[in-house]
Amino acid sequence: MNQEIIEVIDSEQDETSQNWYNLLEAGSLKEGYDLDRFVEPPRKDFNCLICLGVVRNPLECSQCGILLCKKCVYSCSKPQNPFFSMSNTTPKFNCPICRNRSAPREPSMILKKFISVLIVYCKNRKRGCGVCKGLGEIKNHEKECDYKVIRCANHGLCSKEGSKIDFITAKCPKIGKNTNQKSKLVCSEICRKVVVMSYLLKADKIEEAIDQYRLALEQLSQTK
Ligand SMILES: [Zn+2]
Ligand SMILES: [Zn+2]
Ligand SMILES: [Zn+2]
Ligand SMILES: [Zn+2]
Repeated sequence: MNQEIIEVIDSEQDETSQNWYNLLEAGSLKEGYDLDRFVEPPRKDFNCLICLGVVRNPLECSQCGILLCKKCVYSCSKPQNPFFSMSNTTPKFNCPICRNRSAPREPSMILKKFISVLIVYCKNRKRGCGVCKGLGEIKNHEKECDYKVIRCANHGLCSKEGSKIDFITAKCPKIGKNTNQKSKLVCSEICRKVVVMSYLLKADKIEEAIDQYRLALEQLSQTK
């Protein structure tokens, strides 16, 4: 009870580092990285005490020096004015270890570097990917990973999802001024023909589109 009152009175901003809080990004922040992503268990100092994962977007308590994920810092901070919890003023941090209330700070570059070079498995490891890279680089790999989950490009009719590596390419022919050939990933021969057909229909190539349609039907009757 008294704590609450003190907190409201004690709400002058310390101007030094108010930029740790950003209401706009609050919703998109994630908790720390699961420990089983790491090839070697990382130092315990890198674990966030709130979510127990390895810190993501770390912030450091300016008093005791512990690291916490930005998301977890948000979760242990309280609005300065409890009557307007949605106001966009910077909330008061409340360190879960030392109870320090002054703003957390960005860890040093070198510390962030140490974290970014920890080796992790690709998130598609269970689907068959054997790639391991530094935490700072793995995202770039995962965007291109052969094992990432994609959805068949025959959106309207097919809802199949699977590893990129199991999909086949539907090459849409060059038409007119459109010089770059479009290719899309689909789950089956039938979906390939349907995708090419709808591409041809859009380009007013009715004859060719009908050919594709006929081939797709033939294939369908074979598979039944
Ligand atoms: Zn955390
Ligand atoms: Zn602290
Ligand atoms: Zn991968
Ligand atoms: Zn499909």
